[in-house]
Parts: sequence; C-alpha cells; structure tokens
Amino acid sequence: MHAADIITKKRNGEELSENEIAWLIQAYTDDKLPDYQMAAWLMAVFFRGMTDRETAALTMAMANSGEQVDLSQVPGIKVDKHSTGGVADTTTLVLAPLVAAAGVPVAKMSGRGLGFTGGTIDKLEAIPGFKATLERQEFIANLQQYGIAVTGQSAAIAPADGKLYSLRDVTATVESIPLIASSIMSKKIASGADKIVLDVKVGNGAFMKTKADAVTLAEAMVTIGRLVGRETVAILTNMDQPLGMAIGNSLEVKEAIELLSGRGTAALKEVCLELGSQMLVLGGQAKTPADGRRFLKNLIDNRQALAKFGEFITAQQGDAAILQDTGKLPQAGFVQKVTAPCQGYITAVNAAQIGYAAMRLGAGREYKGQTIDVAAGIQMQCRLGQYVSCGQPLAIIYTNDKSKLEQADEILQQAIEIKEQPAVIPPLIIGLVDKNGFHNRLE
Ligand code: URA
Ligand code: CA
Repeated sequence: MHAADIITKKRNGEELSENEIAWLIQAYTDDKLPDYQMAAWLMAVFFRGMTDRETAALTMAMANSGEQVDLSQVPGIKVDKHSTGGVADTTTLVLAPLVAAAGVPVAKMSGRGLGFTGGTIDKLEAIPGFKATLERQEFIANLQQYGIAVTGQSAAIAPADGKLYSLRDVTATVESIPLIASSIMSKKIASGADKIVLDVKVGNGAFMKTKADAVTLAEAMVTIGRLVGRETVAILTNMDQPLGMAIGNSLEVKEAIELLSGRGTAALKEVCLELGSQMLVLGGQAKTPADGRRFLKNLIDNRQALAKFGEFITAQQGDAAILQDTGKLPQAGFVQKVTAPCQGYITAVNAAQIGYAAMRLGAGREYKGQTIDVAAGIQMQCRLGQYVSCGQPLAIIYTNDKSKLEQADEILQQAIEIKEQPAVIPPLIIGLVDKNGFHNRLE
C-alpha cells in the first residue's frame, strides 16, 4: 500500500477500507510514515469526514496500536465512564466508589489535567499518600478484591492516538467529529471497558459549544460502540457554569466527600446519579435508570458509598482519615474572598474563565509536565440565577502563591456577570443518546 494513494482517495471523498486505515495507523505508529503525509490525510479527513464504518475502523486501529488491557479475570461487566472535560467536574471521584458500592466493577485509567479542565489522577494525588500509578497486576488484584481501582493511563495505551493528537494540535485538525470520537473511544476500548457511559458537555466551559454539535459527537461515539460491540450510552449535560462548587484538586476531593456524606452541590449530585444509573443498567445491576437512581441514592444515604471510597483510598495507600477530617487534605496558605460589586441576579458564570483562573492559581497545567499546587483553586459561592447583595462573597480563592491572588480576583469579577433582571437558566440534563438515537429530555 502507498500512503499517497490513501490520501488521494480520502481527498476525493471516497470511503477507505478497514485495511487501508489499519495500515496507515500502524505505519504512523511505527514511525514509517512522515508527519507531512499524516497531516495531509488528517486535513482530508477534516474536510471530507468519515463514514461510520471508517470511524469504527480508525477507532480499532488506534486501540490496537498498543497494549490491550485484559480484564477478563475480573468478574462482572466492566463499565467505564468518560467525560469530555469540564470545570468543577468531580463526577469520577464520586461515581467510582458509588458505582463500585453498587456491585459494578470500576476499572479506571485516568489522565492528568491540561488547560482549564482537571484530571482525576491529579485530584486523587491530593490525598496524602495516595498511589495513583499501579502496576497492571496490582490494578487487577485491587479490582478483584475491592471492585475498584484507578490508575494513570500508561503511554502504552493507544499510542497512535497520542501521536496523532500531537499532530492534530499543530495542524488545525482537532475539531473534527470522527477524529475526536475515535480518539476518545480508542482509549476506553484499549483500557478494557466492556461498556461505556459518556458525559458529553455542552456550553461555554465545554469543548462542544452547541447542543447540535454535542448530539453529533455523542451519536458518533455511540455508533462506534455499536459497530465494535461495546455498548455505549451518552448523556448530554450543561457546562454553562462550573458543575460543582469546587475547582482545584484538594477542594474537589473535599466536595466528593461531602456529596458521599449526603451533602454537597445539587447539580453535581444530579449528574452523578444520571451517569451512575446508566452505568448500573449497562452493568446489569439495575433494570431501569429509575431503579438505578434509587439504588445509588440509598448507597449515599446509608454511607456505603463513602465506606467504599475509604476502602479504595486505603487500598491505594492513601490516608482515609480525610473522610472524617477534610482538614487533613493539603491546605492553601492564602485565602481571599471575591465579592459582588453590586446587587442583582447572577446571569452568567463563565466556566472556561473560572477554570482558567484556577489553573493560573496553580491548580492546573498550562503545559504538559508542569508541577501543580494541589491546595490551589476556587470555591464558588454563587450559582446562575441566584440573587446576591452588594459585597456578598461570589467565590473564595485559594493559593500558595500570593502574587496570583490579584489576577484571579480580576478574572473572576469578569467571569461572573450580575444584572438587574434574572436570565433564563439552561437545563442541566439536556438529553441522552443510545442505540435508538437522541432523546431530548425537554420533550
Ligand atoms: N479528547 C480526546 O481524548 N481526544 C480528542 O480528540 C479530543 C478530546
Ligand atoms: Ca476530566
């Protein structure tokens, strides 16, 4: 086969065969194909798109490019969850112990944060002593014993995706639905998921800014799942404001503990119950999402999910005493309130800007490999639609670098809009995509 022929075919809008796609991806992974040819092919895909069959073939080619995690020794249906990235999205920290407590094994390989979205591994590393990198045998042993294990995603998982993503990043080919969908799905499949629940975020703090784009991406991923035999369900959720109230690693661990203790932010809890109930249905532990939701609520109320969180933390050498005393989590040296300059209704809370402010405070990374400050971040004190009086706290800033306080305060003042008249608040759960297509929750 010749790369130039495959590029020509795609450029002309013809459908590539599974073999052609597999050959191209293998050659690129093996450094036998130069970046300029791959870049030309990516741009052809960007403009011509891909059929469902091509997208599924690309997904499997990337999943097959490295290690395939075999979880067959672990009994039960392994259901993985993936979020397309948001701000104050603490769902994984809550869902992992919650769903494991319900009897669905949770085998998660998570990433570190980059840009304004956080990564689960960084959050877990805020827990004193927590070991976030497990050898494969240890990962499987913990899964068998506790029904839950979380580890950093190794470079051996879908290496083709990592290489392609770096190239897409510098060739203006990131924003392509088949490329995004196959990238996400390849990593889940290589990580050993039998079934997949996706949280596709829509709004100013999300990758997908409109509902139409989010539905298209969700449908692309659900279709891949169907074609490759890994049933997938996608929930569409709003990201026009931070989901929870905490942004930053230590703060988000605290928020997860609060939620599992029966307190915590209503919106975060709602998204967790929605995703969790779908995971229970796919994992065979609930007949309907409504049954799943009741089951999960009960596991929060009777503190079994909190106990599972403790068991998980101890199993990975973390200090589970944080569950009783969150003061044992790393604390920031400098704390400052951001207050309302006037009275009125909160009409906008720009999640992307707030995520950016948290990153600048030290909670996240501007470039790969940057050291973060797990104690840094922002605790929101207001939500969309709320009425605030002049001088009322809108957010609390945490950092260990005093010089960062002023800029964060400025960004937050700009990100939170206050007006005399209330604005319409977007619904939190927008809809669901399953094998039967899109279901609008508003209809
Ligand atoms: N997230 C991914 O994992 N891949 C993409 O292409 C975009 C977002
Ligand atoms: Ca994430």
